[in-house]
Amino acid sequence: MNMNRILLTATLCFSAIQLFFAQSEAKAPTEKTATENLFIVTLDGFRWQEVFGGADSALLFNREYIHDSTYYVQKFWAGSPSSRRQTLLPFFWTTIARQGQIYGNRHLENKVNVSNGMWFSYPGYNEIFTGNPDDKNIYSNDKIPNPNTNVLEFLNRQKGFEGKIAAFSSWDVFPWILNEKRSGILVNSAIEDIEGVSSPTARLLNQLQHQQPMLWEEGVRLDFLTWAIMREYVASNHPRVVYVGLDETDDDAHEGRYDLYLSVAHQADSWLSELWQFIENDPQYRGKTTLFITCDHGRGDKVKKQWRDHGAKVEDSSEIWFAVLGPDSKPTGEVRQPGQYYQKQFAQTFAHLLGQHFICEHEVGQAIESVLNR
Ligand SMILES: [Zn+2]
Repeated sequence: MNMNRILLTATLCFSAIQLFFAQSEAKAPTEKTATENLFIVTLDGFRWQEVFGGADSALLFNREYIHDSTYYVQKFWAGSPSSRRQTLLPFFWTTIARQGQIYGNRHLENKVNVSNGMWFSYPGYNEIFTGNPDDKNIYSNDKIPNPNTNVLEFLNRQKGFEGKIAAFSSWDVFPWILNEKRSGILVNSAIEDIEGVSSPTARLLNQLQHQQPMLWEEGVRLDFLTWAIMREYVASNHPRVVYVGLDETDDDAHEGRYDLYLSVAHQADSWLSELWQFIENDPQYRGKTTLFITCDHGRGDKVKKQWRDHGAKVEDSSEIWFAVLGPDSKPTGEVRQPGQYYQKQFAQTFAHLLGQHFICEHEVGQAIESVLNR
């Protein structure tokens, strides 16, 4: 190689490096955000169809899915989709609809999809937290340590966030999905005693979770226990980033129990409402906390019993939704403009909300700007 070529190569390398930094700077948050704390909540396999339309008549009135629907019709049925969704998810359709943002109503061409090709849980949660669909390595729900760095462990290494990240889940695969061993963050999953809280309530919850009836399979904790354990931990430790993975919507749908599926979603909505009230009354969290709610995958449509299922062979089950409520997100309510968003964009959105820029060994989907434009 002659001198000119060396010079040329050096100049090109330098330009490439400059370009790299210019790009990563351009994508990094430019203004300081108000969000200092973040709560992420997922409802496993909960469909956008119910989020935006409430109870589905084709399922609610089908004796195959609800043996006696009298009670559920009384509770969740109403004449129009907008009153049905309000009845099923009152916190979504009052507080979030007025003060936050709700994405994914495909009737309005507002679309959210997973980018992975699997359309089930581990690949979905991997995509949410790493910002990168990885069909090559993540193609089952097996307990395999996730090789990909996730945004929670990235945050745990940033100044002011160390030891202030906590994850709670009903499903016992999360210690692998979030690679608890490598990431060093707290991952409390079914059925595991909560550490770091010594209150009488924490002791009681630790006892109770070992007494729950086994409804589906070993390794799934009932959502109300996961939620209560999270609440007790948050009240006493005040972490800055909290993740809660609820599970029952998916289990009930697989069982073909539309009554239970609706009930647990309705219950989750009321927990979210109560959590938001707590946030608004707590000096660390008030005005400085964003709540982000989504799911890992969708489900099939009502035809051919496909609503019970999901996966690459089940049409439409890559369709998801998300909602956000917090000081950095404009109160646009239900997003009615056509648009296309992807699950792989969530991780960088979480980081940007907290004024951070997620960089790791793999590519990360771009942050969703409309979430951050107050
Ligand atoms: Zn499932």
